[in-house]
Amino acid sequence: MTRLAKRLAGLEESVTLLITAKAAELRAQGRDIIGFGAGEPDFDTPENIKEAAIKAIRDGKTKYTPVGGIPELKDAVRAKFSRDNSLDYRRDEVIVSCGGKHSIFNLFQAVLEPGDEIIIPAPYWVSYPVMAALAGATPVIVQTTEAEGFKMSPEVFAAHITKATKAVVINSPSNPTGAAYTEAELRRLAEIALRNKVLVITDEIYEELAYDGFKNTSIASTLNELKANCVVLNGVSKAYAMTGWRIGYAAGPTEIIKAMTSIQSQSTSNPASISQWAAVEALNGSQAFIPAMVKEFQARRDTMVSALNAIPNVSAFKPQGAFYVFAKVSGLYGKASAGRVINGSAELATWLLDTVGIAVVPGSAFGNDAYVRLSYATSMKNIAEGIKRLGTAAAMLG
Ligand SMILES: *Cc1c(COP(=O)(O)O)cnc(C)c1O
Repeated sequence: MTRLAKRLAGLEESVTLLITAKAAELRAQGRDIIGFGAGEPDFDTPENIKEAAIKAIRDGKTKYTPVGGIPELKDAVRAKFSRDNSLDYRRDEVIVSCGGKHSIFNLFQAVLEPGDEIIIPAPYWVSYPVMAALAGATPVIVQTTEAEGFKMSPEVFAAHITKATKAVVINSPSNPTGAAYTEAELRRLAEIALRNKVLVITDEIYEELAYDGFKNTSIASTLNELKANCVVLNGVSKAYAMTGWRIGYAAGPTEIIKAMTSIQSQSTSNPASISQWAAVEALNGSQAFIPAMVKEFQARRDTMVSALNAIPNVSAFKPQGAFYVFAKVSGLYGKASAGRVINGSAELATWLLDTVGIAVVPGSAFGNDAYVRLSYATSMKNIAEGIKRLGTAAAMLG
């Protein structure tokens, strides 16, 4: 038997995908399962974007492209940054990858090595610590609390910086909490990062999904000097319901983008040519789809948050963005149903799936076991029925 590489030690399959797979299995057995695990919008990709892809196929745009993206898409990305974030980048400061996740992977490979520390506020997106470890670096997990709005304060950030700190990850709005930093909060974090020469990695994939009129600010735009010390990550997956097309992008200092492009050139080569033309239309074409989707998500968020808060021993943090509710469920721990004691978020998630047929993601996957994540990228009908089932389940625990 071939021995697997040592760097895989501790690498686990994404818990989000595991829960989704288990829910699918139960569904296949004929069980009625309501899924709150979804990590993608339940909307269809807009028609104009699909048409652009079909046209690209008909026009023969089906060959290799430049590794880091076609110039037309790089220019569309540059125009987006200029329009939405007041950030001006040259073409050689932009890379297009096979999804936002791929840009982040390339970036971590480009800048992190053994001996480096990378500060990751928790609750975090599951992939950051794993990708850091795959690059040989040490993830430094910084816990944030609901009382702090799940945001890392400048003082706490500063307290975790050591000589080995190479980078910090900011994900606003956040997956899994939906917390979003204000411009003033970001500027203070930027000042500390700059003073300590810590690279700021900002994942803004949920930028467009913000509620109650909140407008996301890119941390890169909060201080003039920061741009040279910051990589901005974004993509079309969440904003345009294009998760399957696999297009993400990053902008930052030329040498970093060049290194990321070299890594990409030796691994995946260019992202799919057809998807790139679709992304050009997504960024340059009508943006009318976004406010319509945001309006629907906001209504679902409000319904889900109030329904959760009506359940004894459960409370929901009201998210400012993304499409997840991070709900505190530790009030149910230590209780039992039919002799089965619930001792943490993973046990609760399994029990909920078995008993009342709802799929949630355990908070332990995101670095906080007191919570579970529920996605509202599902219909109002499912939200009403699913949260009702959660209430029934909670009442069964005594
Ligand atoms: C979905 C997601 C991404 C990237 O998704 P892609 O489909 O790879 O573009 C990046 N960061 C976070 C926090 C996400 O939730």
